[in-house]
Amino acid sequence: MNLYRVIFYFAANMSNHEQYPLRGEGITILAIESSCDDTSVAVCRNGVILSNIIAGQIVHEKYGGVVPELASRAHMQNIVPTVQAALDTANTTMDKLDAIAFTQSPGLIGSLLVGVQFAKSVALALDKPLIAVHHMQAHVLANLIDTDNKPDFPFLCLTVSGGHTQIVLAKSPLELEVIGETIDDAAGEAFDKCAKIMGIPYPGGPLIDKYAKEGNPLAFKFAEPQMPELNFSFSGLKTSVLYFLQKQESGFIAANQADLCASIQYTIINILLKKLKKAVQQTGISNVCIAGGVSANSGLRNGLTEMGKKHGWKTFIPAFQYCTDNAGMIAITAHYKYLAGQFAGMEASPSARAEW
Ligand code: ADP
Ligand code: MG
Repeated sequence: MNLYRVIFYFAANMSNHEQYPLRGEGITILAIESSCDDTSVAVCRNGVILSNIIAGQIVHEKYGGVVPELASRAHMQNIVPTVQAALDTANTTMDKLDAIAFTQSPGLIGSLLVGVQFAKSVALALDKPLIAVHHMQAHVLANLIDTDNKPDFPFLCLTVSGGHTQIVLAKSPLELEVIGETIDDAAGEAFDKCAKIMGIPYPGGPLIDKYAKEGNPLAFKFAEPQMPELNFSFSGLKTSVLYFLQKQESGFIAANQADLCASIQYTIINILLKKLKKAVQQTGISNVCIAGGVSANSGLRNGLTEMGKKHGWKTFIPAFQYCTDNAGMIAITAHYKYLAGQFAGMEASPSARAEW
């Protein structure tokens, strides 16, 4: 993965939103997330999430990972009922919408295509503007969903998911800078790969979290990489777990599952929180958030809270439903883009790549 240091100011207006008068109840946005294997649709009004429906795809379980072609097909089956459920739960209808938002990148191209094309069709049929959202920006802005407890700007966000691990400096909702990231595996990938080595089914992250609760985090010691600056590396941990387990006798994993899970989780959290502490020291910013699927991890949530208390940081953690992939985070991001007049044209196309 290439390292990049970019400050990105999101795309300029591509169409004039003043030609789209509001319906009178405030800004109501329908948001679609289809970047990987969850079809999710949310409705938000004036920055308040009214519904956030997530249709998972069990079809991948037996393959031990997401099969892209099956994911696209499942999105096509799920999208209409999920949109309907999101509208019903929000107690609203298509004619009340002011904009249609979709995840543009990064993700599986076939999965993204379903969401993008569906969003475009709805926007065309209703003559409403489109808003294209970057999935990683949305993970960060999930921290703005809880209106009673959201961070002031500037803040730092550790975004940890199955595909990415980044430390992001957020100066405003639309002005984010990646100040550190992984050079190989993502934190979620490290959880999932270590789980696979132990024979724990995909995705292993939530199961490692569950088994770790019964184990001793100091039972086994695994490699912690020495990475410069604010970057991360997790491939050495996976190898260290593999080599350690290859040396053990049969039955070792089953007999020590809880301790192994607790020790692996402890190592991953340690790597993450050490870098987060360094980022706070370097930037002087002590509003600290986490985001992404791995922020659902109970050890990381507790670890961040404890660290915040110890160092006097203000810490923020999204509700569970806004940690893993969800359309609520796409909707809140779209809300800020709507306010800034950042709309996409009908030529908008998805991109698998992560560049912002
Ligand atoms: P993506 O990478 O597709 O954006 P998500 O943001 O939904 O996906 O994150 C999925 C990742 O989060 C997976 O690697 C999964 O194992 C991990 N994950 C989810 N819950 C937990 C948990 N409680 N503990 C550790 N990892 C978790
Ligand atoms: Mg994600």
